[in-house]
Amino acid sequence: MVLALTSALSRCNMSDCIFCMIGAGDIPAELLYEDEKVLAFRDVNPQGPFHILIIPRDHYPSIKEIRDECLIGQMFNAGNRIAEENKIKDFRYIINTGEDAGQTVFHVHLHLIGGRKMTWPPGEGEKMKIKWIGHSALLLEGSRKVLIDPFLTGDPAATVSIDDVTECDVVIATHDHGDHLGDSFEICRRTGAVFVSLYEISEQAEKEGLSAEMMNVGGTIETNSVKISMVPALHSATLGGTAVGVVVEFDGISVYHAGDTGLTMDMSLIGEMYEPDIAFLPIDGRFTMTPRLAAKAVELLKVPKVVPIHFDTFPAIKSSPEEFKNLVGNKSDVIILTPGETIEL
Ligand code: 5GP
Ligand code: ZN
Repeated sequence: MVLALTSALSRCNMSDCIFCMIGAGDIPAELLYEDEKVLAFRDVNPQGPFHILIIPRDHYPSIKEIRDECLIGQMFNAGNRIAEENKIKDFRYIINTGEDAGQTVFHVHLHLIGGRKMTWPPGEGEKMKIKWIGHSALLLEGSRKVLIDPFLTGDPAATVSIDDVTECDVVIATHDHGDHLGDSFEICRRTGAVFVSLYEISEQAEKEGLSAEMMNVGGTIETNSVKISMVPALHSATLGGTAVGVVVEFDGISVYHAGDTGLTMDMSLIGEMYEPDIAFLPIDGRFTMTPRLAAKAVELLKVPKVVPIHFDTFPAIKSSPEEFKNLVGNKSDVIILTPGETIEL
């Protein structure tokens, strides 16, 4: 009797449930499938290029409350159909059940995520790898592949050539100087990656037929499941007139790439507002900070890990990462890499 009552109640449309509201048409969603029992729509915060939620129209808080085997089958059938129609060959189904498992909306839903490689086991243990390609170029690899300042062609220190880059989701350029914008456009052309930069540089990318996101200092965007915040840097540039730094976040890791910059008090705010897990700071001492100033930047940022970059690429920018490490002392863990080396976070 009690069971029947619970079941009858849970089948009512709940006025405070987001997914019931989507089912009722009260909240907009991009629908991909519907029948009289099941509904599928795009996730508002996609965790991959293709992320769909499949829900029963009736309200069940979680999969545990569904007694109707057919309904469960119908949800998977809908998912299989959507995957096929959208040419998603490999994908993952997920039903988070309960808070500790990551459930945040308590109307049962089947996640269908595809369009990217996934690691196993899911959740904890997914690490981000960061390769210092050389000069200012970084490759961030986890559930997504992100390149920052990919100056590969013409960089005597580069350990990756443009032909090595076959897959990429996002390319970010901190400014339009050749040693930062580098091969960005060509990589986007070859891989279909989204180009992210200052308004004027992205406008140029769009003119060249690339998919681009325009930004400016202070903004935060999300593209291809990568969150990018544009932060101040003190440096010149042609397009856009200035250079910027970026804070890039995905897989739960936040990376600050300072671009080219002098020392600025803004670094204190960058540390406070974005709380990066790691910072990549230029230390060449001619076009950007000296090791002494970069050590002060670490103090302002209060960042737990830091890697010196943008030095020794050319004779004019010889610098000393060891001096930088000594000056930072115990204020942060200074990791001195050589071009081509990778760290895991
Ligand atoms: P959970 O964490 O409960 O397994 O997943 C809930 C999912 O619902 C999340 O991926 C979240 O992005 C998505 N979501 C939350 N609110 C909305 C909304 O209003 N519209 C859409 N389309 N998705 C939503
Ligand atoms: Zn509901």
